Amino acid sequence: MSTQPNRPRIVCLPGDCIGPEVMAVAQRALRKLAPDLELEEHVFGAGAIRSTGTSLPDATLEACRAADAVLKAPIGDPEFDAADVRPEQGMLRLRAELDVYANLRPASRGEIDLLIVRELVGGLYFGARGVREDGTVFDTCEYHPTQVERIARRAFELARSRRGRLTSVDKANVLETSRLWRRVVHEVAADYVDVEVEDMLVDNAAMQLASAPEQFDVIVTENMFGDILSDLAAAMTGGLGLAPSASLSDDGPGIFEPVHGSAPDIAGRGIANPAAMLRSTALMLEHGLARPNEARALEGAVDVALHERPTRDLGGTATTAEFADAVVAAFTH
Ligand code: NAD
Repeated sequence: MSTQPNRPRIVCLPGDCIGPEVMAVAQRALRKLAPDLELEEHVFGAGAIRSTGTSLPDATLEACRAADAVLKAPIGDPEFDAADVRPEQGMLRLRAELDVYANLRPASRGEIDLLIVRELVGGLYFGARGVREDGTVFDTCEYHPTQVERIARRAFELARSRRGRLTSVDKANVLETSRLWRRVVHEVAADYVDVEVEDMLVDNAAMQLASAPEQFDVIVTENMFGDILSDLAAAMTGGLGLAPSASLSDDGPGIFEPVHGSAPDIAGRGIANPAAMLRSTALMLEHGLARPNEARALEGAVDVALHERPTRDLGGTATTAEFADAVVAAFTH
């Protein structure tokens, strides 16, 4: 094949424990489905701490910045649980450096087909925190209107591309940040008159998610509410082993990764379920590379494999490799 200067570059971060096992399946699928993509690997996480002393080496960060998309497997290793330099520090830094403020967490099963859009780089997890002299500890939740506006816009765009319904979740009866959130969401709504928007208080949203999840299309919410609600939605639609995520910025590369961790308890046994990694790869094809047809093909093949060759965590017997075989076989059907 002749050289193709415009081949999209994907930085793959295989990570730790089961990370390389599920990443290998994603790469196998991509080589079949999208052979023009250039896949390159970089160290990140516990492996990077061992070889370079830091979780996110400069060379890895620079490669991520220059990439078209970052495909990330889970990081983390019990060896570093009590260490000063921890793999997760690199994760927070990578998100902040790439300014991936929009975290997409789709959840579907049967009648349920919803997308949670979580603000990822603001709010309680990034505000000032500390300990006062009297022993009181505090965390602060702050949002600037521009932070709310950009995530709201992203959510309206996504709702427009789906069923045209947006639920904005807040706690506006109590929190100042939520009152700002609600005001800005409604200002942005003026540009999206084709999208039906409703407000919902977060406590009610949790109850509605648990009792009538089929009512939701796109949910947009701030960082901590989104953290909690998206795990609830994942648990209701098959568990963390199946849940993918995409974290998007405005003009740089996105990060695409499964929600689950590095599962050290099953590492090296060839039994990890690669479905969440593959679904994250499908999100990369759709949102990171604007290749929706390949994304649909991959999602469909994963659904076939989940049906035909479920892995042990789902009550089946398939190994990681057998699941991968079923995915690749489904491409040619
Ligand atoms: P975990 O998600 O790794 O594992 C929880 C349970 O789910 C385990 O029993 C595991 O075997 C199972 N599991 C998870 N993914 C699976 C898969 N694909 N197939 C089959 N079974 C699967 O959560 P944990 O044990 O709390 O964390 C382990 C490590 O992962 C920690 O170091 C943690 O910090 C890290 N972590 C990393 C990320 C990330 O990279 N984004 C996210 C969460 C946790």
